Amino acid sequence: QARLNAIAAVTNYKAGTPAFSFADSTPTELFGSNVFNDKVMRERLPKKVYKSLMRTIEQGEKLDPSVADVVATAMKDWAMSKGATHYTHVFYPLNGLTAEKHDGFLTPDGNGNVLAEFSGSQLIQGEPDASSFPSGGLRATFEARGYTAWDVTNPAYIIENPNGTFLCIPTAFVSWTGEALDKKTPLLRASQALNTQARRVLRLFGTDTGDRVVSYAGAEQEYFLIDRNFFFARPDLQLAGRTLLGAKPAKGQEFEDHYFGTVPRRVLAFMLEVEHELYKLGVPVKTRHNEVAPAQFEIAPVFEVSNLATDHNQIIMTSLKSIAKRYGMACLLHEKPFAGINGSGKHVNYSLGNSKLGSLFDPGDTPHENAQFLVFCAAMIRSVHKYGHLMRAVVASASNDHRLGANEAPPAIMSVYLGEQLTDVFEQIKNGGAKSCKKRGMLQVGVDTLPPLPMDAGDRNRTSPFAFTGNRFEFRAVGSNMSIAGPQVALNTMLAESLDYIATELEKTTGGDQSKLPEAVQCLLRDIITEHEAVIFNGDGYSDEWHKEAERRGLRNLPTSVQALPVLTAPEVVELFEKYGVFSRRELESRQSIYLEQYCRTIHTEAALVVKMARTQIFPAAVRYQSELAATCANMKAIGMDFVTHTLSDLTEKLRGLQQNTDALDALVNSHFESEIEEAAFMREKVLPAMEKVRSYADQLENIVADDLWPLPSYQEMLFIK
Ligand code: ADP
Ligand code: MG
Repeated sequence: QARLNAIAAVTNYKAGTPAFSFADSTPTELFGSNVFNDKVMRERLPKKVYKSLMRTIEQGEKLDPSVADVVATAMKDWAMSKGATHYTHVFYPLNGLTAEKHDGFLTPDGNGNVLAEFSGSQLIQGEPDASSFPSGGLRATFEARGYTAWDVTNPAYIIENPNGTFLCIPTAFVSWTGEALDKKTPLLRASQALNTQARRVLRLFGTDTGDRVVSYAGAEQEYFLIDRNFFFARPDLQLAGRTLLGAKPAKGQEFEDHYFGTVPRRVLAFMLEVEHELYKLGVPVKTRHNEVAPAQFEIAPVFEVSNLATDHNQIIMTSLKSIAKRYGMACLLHEKPFAGINGSGKHVNYSLGNSKLGSLFDPGDTPHENAQFLVFCAAMIRSVHKYGHLMRAVVASASNDHRLGANEAPPAIMSVYLGEQLTDVFEQIKNGGAKSCKKRGMLQVGVDTLPPLPMDAGDRNRTSPFAFTGNRFEFRAVGSNMSIAGPQVALNTMLAESLDYIATELEKTTGGDQSKLPEAVQCLLRDIITEHEAVIFNGDGYSDEWHKEAERRGLRNLPTSVQALPVLTAPEVVELFEKYGVFSRRELESRQSIYLEQYCRTIHTEAALVVKMARTQIFPAAVRYQSELAATCANMKAIGMDFVTHTLSDLTEKLRGLQQNTDALDALVNSHFESEIEEAAFMREKVLPAMEKVRSYADQLENIVADDLWPLPSYQEMLFIK
């Protein structure tokens, strides 16, 4: 009955009274009202303390421990004035989720009374019982505790709940020996490396402003919304986040009538509340719209500094899920909840710069600015060519594998889309002279007025995994369910390495003589582009020809996580990360092992679930229908009439297929392995295809068995009843 109840609940759904109105408090009033931000700090901190803290936040100076007590007290008073009773160190363990442990402010005073207390040391450091978070062997059990350390650069905030409010302190999570156990720590390290190398290049151009260079990210979050009743009627959605069975609906997304269409009313109400909550938390959400697949949507904030953008993306994901419940819906963040229609990605728009310089990927108005732009752009191209396989590895997961390589998402081959105009500029630079780099009539970087370079930001080549879009690169292979930290750690470190190389070369050739810079740049750009142009591709990334062409160009194609994850410990990758102090070998090995284990566990869980659903839901439904048909045949025969139906034999045959393949899958589920990689390969090569076989029989049965006997909500119901 679950399915019919679900349909009834959806059709009888009535919108409740809105919990808020933007007329009462406008987005500008709301924005950041629950954040311990600059305004609050100015108001509540002594000037000296404020200034000291600001030096840490803005210049990355070491935190003066004596200010911590003062900041902690101010934070506590502010949070309590907003109804908070507890504080929590928020951290991002390697399972990709957000973790928090709550502690009350109340402390006994020794006389039977209590005080509200929050000390500097409680602010700076926490000790969650972390033994059950994945560490990939980094922690022996006797030193199982990790600790959380306050990330001063991101502001604290409060989360309001109808039943209670608490203060959240962003933290990094590390082991006692200082090894990173989370997603944030390496991002902070990689940002540091990028700053150092980018500034070296800027100094050569005389444009270093003395301010930190940071990386920016703008993450476009895609998601599905379905009615919550359907969600609860599907064990696969509940446990695996995706449908493991389900026949294709007669209508899919081929009409393209959903994209940018009118947002359904219930969904709009949900979106408004999401935005309302996010404004309070200072998350600058800006864009909302329907996506390509039915029941698919997108939310995008304005870009921010990487570290903040990453925390905010986690907050966005958490908010989408929790607020959907209030509207009777379930938000699916899985990369491929429904077979046969588009999955969800998370385009990460990436650039570097600072408030004075803007984006260093933004072509300027003068030849000088343009030369600098071309250098940063060439650095990015070189990085993708050298470390494309790493970019593939940091977006590897069992769920994202369903998307990459299918004809809806960028392929598992990493290449750079530059657009015609910029490709042409680099082409001219490349041909700009064999030896002296100064062939007459050719483009001279930093000397000629380059053709105006404002790139068309409206790049619609959606088939490229890494596309230049005017003032940034858009990394499109990231999955909807992933933390965006990993991709940025890779991009920042790769780019730092290329900028390091470029700075070193230019320092050598100019010997500090600024007048030699244009020619030095010209030569270097020519060399880089000659060596790395193979990674530039402006064509259709979905086509078969590209797969062949990419192979000819020597670009690696790593279609699955099983091939991609080992890259994390490839010699050149270990060397890269160790050189810039982002990861030690041990940290990389631990990450690889955790991600492989997650891969195996995911597929193992799914396989067990397929077996269970096939046996306890699909098989019984089909058998009931079979007996109904058989009874009809017998009855007809009894009254001397013929009942000719091929449905019965067809059904019986498919039932047999279902049973046999379910048994075969079941036998695979309990295998044992010597190593994680061996297990992962087995999951990929044996278990996934076996699951598909069961599915194909189940889906054929769905198209034969009487509708009223079918136990699971269908694709059509989930996707089109809103
Ligand atoms: P589209 O769908 O055309 O790719 P969206 O407006 O959905 O564009 O999202 C673009 C994202 O890129 C936004 O988050 C935006 O803030 C971000 N963005 C814009 N400029 C930059 C930049 N210089 N660096 C990083 N991100 C940027
Ligand atoms: Mg977009």
